[in-house]
Amino acid sequence: MHGAGDRIDTSTAHSARVYDYILGGKDHYLVDVEAGDAMCRHWPALPVHMLENRRFMHRAGRYLAEEQGVRQFLDIGTGLPTAPNLHEVAQEVAAESRVVYVDNDPIVLAHARALLQSSPEGATAYVDADMHDPDAILNSPQFRALVDLGEPVGLMIIGILHFILPPDDRRLVQRLLEPLPSGSFVALTIGTADFAPEEVGRVAEEYGRQGMPMSLRDLATASAFFEGLELLEPGVTQVHKWRPGPEQDGVDDSAIAMYGAVARKP
Ligand code: SAH
Repeated sequence: MHGAGDRIDTSTAHSARVYDYILGGKDHYLVDVEAGDAMCRHWPALPVHMLENRRFMHRAGRYLAEEQGVRQFLDIGTGLPTAPNLHEVAQEVAAESRVVYVDNDPIVLAHARALLQSSPEGATAYVDADMHDPDAILNSPQFRALVDLGEPVGLMIIGILHFILPPDDRRLVQRLLEPLPSGSFVALTIGTADFAPEEVGRVAEEYGRQGMPMSLRDLATASAFFEGLELLEPGVTQVHKWRPGPEQDGVDDSAIAMYGAVARKP
């Protein structure tokens, strides 16, 4: 965790810290509070939207562990630790589960210790890397040590693709999937303005003004990420409609600006 502090910029808002603020965490600064408050003025449903994105991660992770038997995960754009983290979800199903976390934000690196509290039977690791450099992730000692490429992997790219702009976006997802064996899975959430175009458009503009340009995608563009893969039921849906539980009862469609889906690599 050496030197992460040197890279933390407290003068501009950061996506991981704004997300932490809106989700009720404590690892953020005044600039992030101001940015988050401004975004909620543009779109009061933002906290519901973000919570449902996080809950999709919980359900998709649990589904892969419980129903598909996945025991190793690669999680890109992990965010600040927020219980339950992916390894807690997976290790509750199978204590031997392994998770490699990846984020490029120095504040996430500074808090990575909480992501490294694995069960004794399993393992977790953290890679400080950018999704734009997938080879740095795939060649990292952490990935090589924890991931057995003879077994299926669950690739999770949740709540980050809206920061990965075209034209590189699809290629980067494909590159991360490339070394994973047949029978591996990818879970994505993909930001969209399809359900509250004006409000979500304003939030995207606000992120852009704060130095975090954002790409929102319609259903066709979101679905294109899954070309060549086998989409699992129920396909590409708003995140609260993907294998919902009782918590999703009463969530308003117009509050959710995120598509989600899980697909299998043939
Ligand atoms: N996956 C978590 C957190 C989403 S917040 C969840 O869904 O709950 C988005 C995270 O992506 C932030 O922590 C941010 O630092 C990270 N991120 C954004 N761009 C990135 C990039 N190019 N490479 C790696 N991480 C990135």
